[in-house]
Amino acid sequence: MNIFHTLESEVRSYCRSWPVVFDRATGSWLHTEDGRRYLDFFAGAGALNYGHNNPVLKQALLEYLAEDRVIHSLDMHTAAKRAFLEKFDELVLAPRGLDYKVQFPGPTGTNAVESALKLARKVTGRESIVNFTNAFHGMTLGSLSVSGDSMKRGGAGIPLVHATPMPYDNYFDRRYPDFLYFERLLSDNGSGLNKPAAVIVESVQGEGGINAARFEWLAGLADLCRKHDILLIVDDVQMGCGRTGPFFSFEPAEIQPDIVCLSKSIGGFGLPMALTLVRPHLDVWEPGEHNGTFRGNNASFVTAAASLETYWADDRLEKSTLAKGEQVDRALHEIARSVPGVTPKGRGLARGLSFADPATAARVAKTAFERELLVETSGPDDEVVKLMPPLTITDDELGEGLTRFTESVLACAA
Ligand code: PMP
Repeated sequence: MNIFHTLESEVRSYCRSWPVVFDRATGSWLHTEDGRRYLDFFAGAGALNYGHNNPVLKQALLEYLAEDRVIHSLDMHTAAKRAFLEKFDELVLAPRGLDYKVQFPGPTGTNAVESALKLARKVTGRESIVNFTNAFHGMTLGSLSVSGDSMKRGGAGIPLVHATPMPYDNYFDRRYPDFLYFERLLSDNGSGLNKPAAVIVESVQGEGGINAARFEWLAGLADLCRKHDILLIVDDVQMGCGRTGPFFSFEPAEIQPDIVCLSKSIGGFGLPMALTLVRPHLDVWEPGEHNGTFRGNNASFVTAAASLETYWADDRLEKSTLAKGEQVDRALHEIARSVPGVTPKGRGLARGLSFADPATAARVAKTAFERELLVETSGPDDEVVKLMPPLTITDDELGEGLTRFTESVLACAA
């Protein structure tokens, strides 16, 4: 009898794609209980930028646990929280000249998005939010409502009335001048677009198929928002914490969003943690207005602080991520030279290969699994195979993974 099939609910996906039982995990590798080891080019969907069981972060956590320090504390002050906030300011905000208050909205990415949407509505007194085609912001009702494929993911009953989708960068293959459409709708009282509270955007759409917006486009969006007094929310849940190179994915666009959502790799060790960064003048919550039991996970604060200290005290990780990203890009272009109909996508170590049809993408992901390489598919039709190894992957491991991936593509698509 398979205990999983007897007890587990049907709401599952990863265990269907990868029907093995994982047990141990180190660095860029996941080990099954029957002794196989898989190279992880999935990295917890962006939650494991520093690899599995990162030894430095593990040591910090073990020391914290050994001394019976506070683990659960709602939003009380704790020494671990203070240490994290100090490091975050010293190594992330201050060097970038960014001025934000930090909120702990709950344990996961969708909590950060929900709090951002609610705050934007409270601050502006307006209801609607503009989101983008192919966006993904989470699975709770508010974040789902601003996700491009909310109906597919959520079925009926999603409160979509306050969300208006606009075309993401490149949606029309650059045939439309940037923002002309949006600007016109905003300026025309008869367009039906009520002035929104906020625009929410990802700099690279991870779940939407590794669509990378141009930095000029992001800067233009920030200008448009400023001009029309609309708040700009950047959802950096998946692309933040160095996934595309810099700590914040939007840094090269030289913008300062009004609100930034972080989660996934901010805890560093794969422990749940989320942050909502808000410009100080937007910090209008009354005490208790947005709360939640698991907002103050001190184990996450400890590993988060250790990850900042280890990886963000200098620019080495940013540089190596950009270099490794180039290496992946070269391998994808090499594939594209011999396989018709595939397109390399992405930025930094958020890369993808788009296939002409979803069936080929699925076959490639399955073949990669047979070659002990974990990759997942994304995009509106799951036609893009995503390559998102830990940022700490070694050059040899990256080369090995790219070889396995290339072989998988050639086996399926050539
Ligand atoms: N925003 C983005 C951009 C994401 O990629 C995700 C998760 N894939 C979320 C929000 C939601 O995060 P979580 O699953 O932790 O709620």
